[in-house]
Amino acid sequence: MAQDLVLKQRSEILCGLCASGSPEPLERVLDVLLACGEFSWEDYHNVRVQGRPLHANARHLLDLVYAKGEAACQAFTEAIREVRPEDPGRVTGMLLTRRPTLVAELQSCMDGALEALLESGCFTHEDCGDVRLPIHTPSQQVARRLLDHVSSKGESAANVVLLFKSFFTSILVYLSITELLIYQKKLRSSVSAQSSFLNTYGGTGHMLLDDIYTEGQLELAQDCKDQGHLGLEDIIGTAGNVNQEADTVLISGDAGSGKSTLLQRLHLLWARGATLPEFVLLFPFSCRKLNSELNELSVQKLLFHHCCWPDRDQDEIFRFILDHPHLVVITFDGLDELKQSFSDERRVCCPTEPAPVHVLLFNLLQGSLLKGVRKVVTSRPEAVGSTLRKHLRKELFLKGFSPDGINCFVKKQHHDLSVASKVLASIQANTALFGLCHSPVLCWIVSQCHKELLGCGDGTPQTITDVYLMILQHFLQHQNASKCSEGATLLQEHLGGILHLGQLAFQGVEASCYVFAGTDLETCCVTDKEICAGFLTQSKEMSFPQSLRYEFLHVTMQCFFAALYIVLSNNTDRSTVAKLFEADFSSTCFWSCLSVDHRQGLAENPNSQITATFVSGLLSQRHRHLWLHCTPTTTVEKKARQVVRCLHNGMQEHFKSIPPPVQCEKKSMHAMPGFVWLIKCIYEMRESNMAEEVLSQLEVDHLKMTYCNIGPVECTALAYVLKHLRSPVGIELDNNSVGDVGVEQLLPCLHICKSLYLRNNNITDEGIRKLVAKGIQCDNFQKIALFNNRLTDACTQHVSHLLKTKQNFLSLRFVLGNNNITSEGAKQLAKGLECNHSLTHLGLWGNKIGDSGAEAIAGALEGSKTLAWLRYYFLFAGPVVSLASLRKCSTLQLIPLPLLHCTRLTENCITREGVDCLVQALERNKRIKSVW
Ligand code: ADP
Repeated sequence: MAQDLVLKQRSEILCGLCASGSPEPLERVLDVLLACGEFSWEDYHNVRVQGRPLHANARHLLDLVYAKGEAACQAFTEAIREVRPEDPGRVTGMLLTRRPTLVAELQSCMDGALEALLESGCFTHEDCGDVRLPIHTPSQQVARRLLDHVSSKGESAANVVLLFKSFFTSILVYLSITELLIYQKKLRSSVSAQSSFLNTYGGTGHMLLDDIYTEGQLELAQDCKDQGHLGLEDIIGTAGNVNQEADTVLISGDAGSGKSTLLQRLHLLWARGATLPEFVLLFPFSCRKLNSELNELSVQKLLFHHCCWPDRDQDEIFRFILDHPHLVVITFDGLDELKQSFSDERRVCCPTEPAPVHVLLFNLLQGSLLKGVRKVVTSRPEAVGSTLRKHLRKELFLKGFSPDGINCFVKKQHHDLSVASKVLASIQANTALFGLCHSPVLCWIVSQCHKELLGCGDGTPQTITDVYLMILQHFLQHQNASKCSEGATLLQEHLGGILHLGQLAFQGVEASCYVFAGTDLETCCVTDKEICAGFLTQSKEMSFPQSLRYEFLHVTMQCFFAALYIVLSNNTDRSTVAKLFEADFSSTCFWSCLSVDHRQGLAENPNSQITATFVSGLLSQRHRHLWLHCTPTTTVEKKARQVVRCLHNGMQEHFKSIPPPVQCEKKSMHAMPGFVWLIKCIYEMRESNMAEEVLSQLEVDHLKMTYCNIGPVECTALAYVLKHLRSPVGIELDNNSVGDVGVEQLLPCLHICKSLYLRNNNITDEGIRKLVAKGIQCDNFQKIALFNNRLTDACTQHVSHLLKTKQNFLSLRFVLGNNNITSEGAKQLAKGLECNHSLTHLGLWGNKIGDSGAEAIAGALEGSKTLAWLRYYFLFAGPVVSLASLRKCSTLQLIPLPLLHCTRLTENCITREGVDCLVQALERNKRIKSVW
């Protein structure tokens, strides 16, 4: 079909490839064909004959592709789609939008600009004459004429002028603009070739990033009101900058949350000129690949050897980078995978001084090298310590897919809509699985294994281990000629291969090695068949293009194989399991101030934690039957007992860290970093008895898990484990990413929850609806805090229902704070307040309930015998206070409430007259102790 298309639309395709006059589209198509393996170097050189007219080259390309058959034509048509410019008039459009500045700036350097245009071939001598003449024209007019002329010449001429303007206006011209453009072009095509395909699909078919990319949830790490939705431009943009002096932006997120894919998207769009147009050069690095660079290098060598080699004028191009750092971006993917942890001990300031790669990297990040060049680095949060945080311009969190994102991703994966909707229905029917699918890597696996998913009926995966077992069986079945064996038999048939890959993975996790050479594979006896099974993918190495290297599809896949090895091999040492679970419990400082810069032990490595999570899952009772024919049952049981002991001891260490309660205060435990991980391991085992036994020793009134990176997946695990608590607790989950799906996951433990703090958690009205529906059935549930979520008037009917129904409910503290409740919502809420006789705390800060809403609430509270504390600021919407309402609300009605002893009225629009009213009322009220 694609072959047909190539034939029938030949003239349109030719026109599309050659219309701009630039060879760029053709070359980008060639890049793509090379990258996906449809073209060899020989084909490439046959098409790209220097000196032959562009049309002739394009025709030759079409002939060759057609002759190669359907698969090549398919790849070709996708490549055509891929290189089609996103917005053909984008650069010329910029000439128009920036015209006033350009006219002002160009008038002093017309000669340079014209020379650059001549040199690049965009202008002829006649064009230059047209612009300059007549000689006495004022220079602004000449600049305008130049811009008009450039616009008529199209995108490449516009690009030359913009580039020229950005760096030639005030400096010595030591580098020809053509050389820079040539280098930029080379860099762009290399970046494009590296980023067009999803790199983890090597073994399972080619997947264009354009076809599958789905936007993830990107948020600023710092609390930032009204930050809204962040996109790729915000990575470099000004939003959320906390340190203007620093160059480095950190994107943190869990393994599989999409950090590499996000960077890949950024690279691809930059290569096409569709984003970050103000940056002339972009150098992408992968930290896992930098691990294999053992030589000392200078920064210049690092950039050119590892990213893109300038064919000429290397020193001049490097000088350009030094002199114009603001036009350059460097990205480092996966700092957590670098063998060395960040340190700012060794300073290197000289760009020509050779140093080990990690030293260069640290100096780049902290700004001692290439100061002013913007650096973007991704990492898992556990691997970023306080030393690096000092050097950050800002930090962003990537939080995986939103529920809409899951929907969109699954539809992109399955073009057959009936399959997509069945997969989605199956995911949504299982809330635990829906939670898991917020992680893009898990969503990908679930979509890949859609046949298995749809075939397993009610037994759809619940845990992360279940999902990885599903893909293991999926790939193994694809390898099987007979395709009839499954479960234990299938694993037994492939035991050899699993152990070979497992050993490779295990040794890699121990040594922080994620890219493997042929010799590593040989040492672990990995055969060609095992390489092709789908778990490994070929690594694209710029610096070692000749040698074949491999990596696992994803780092979590490597951890899964390492776990399989630990469970199934007889060669691991007895202490392996213990070491895996060993954590540094001696530290008592909390997450936010914990420095993990001195990673030494195995358990401090985030990959060991993921491996341990899988080991727990694989050794659970539910999965033991799978290993029946692979290893003696007694060995598996022994290892399982060891895991249970480790989890038990780990939790004990946490419980021991609970300080004795301060007088008159509740006994409170602040979760330390490993706590949530241990909870997740217990959940992977899904053994109620064990969870119950472990928790029997936890005696606290309040469990604080703020800033613990808790999303829907963690909520499922928390609810599973905490529901076994013996007495009710307060659960504080402020500043996490619980969201509506997480709220739903928490419901199974709501009966042991006295108070639930969910401040700053991206919760909407729908989450509140579900929470209230369950909350009214739970006797212990008495307090809720929802400050800074995404609530609107629609949630007030549910909250109102809660107030009417639950006559032991105590606190709606900050309930509506910083949400978007208007007077309508306040009136709805007032209906609930009128019928409630138990509430002692109410917080209304940061809403827009206006005078009428305030009056309704004040009316409802009239005569309340219980309300002791009222947070009431930002009550009035407009700048002009209605004195009547103020009098009615704040003074005449609220102040005389018998138990009210604290009133906060700050940030309202209270005038002098209002204050007089307050004073009069206070004279009559003997209980008020403080007024803010
Ligand atoms: P991380 O770098 O955070 O470990 P990756 O970017 O490697 O995560 O993502 C793992 C896998 O998840 C990718 O190979 C891809 O299949 C899928 N994925 C991640 N982010 C996206 C996205 N934005 N759109 C589509 N798929 C994604």
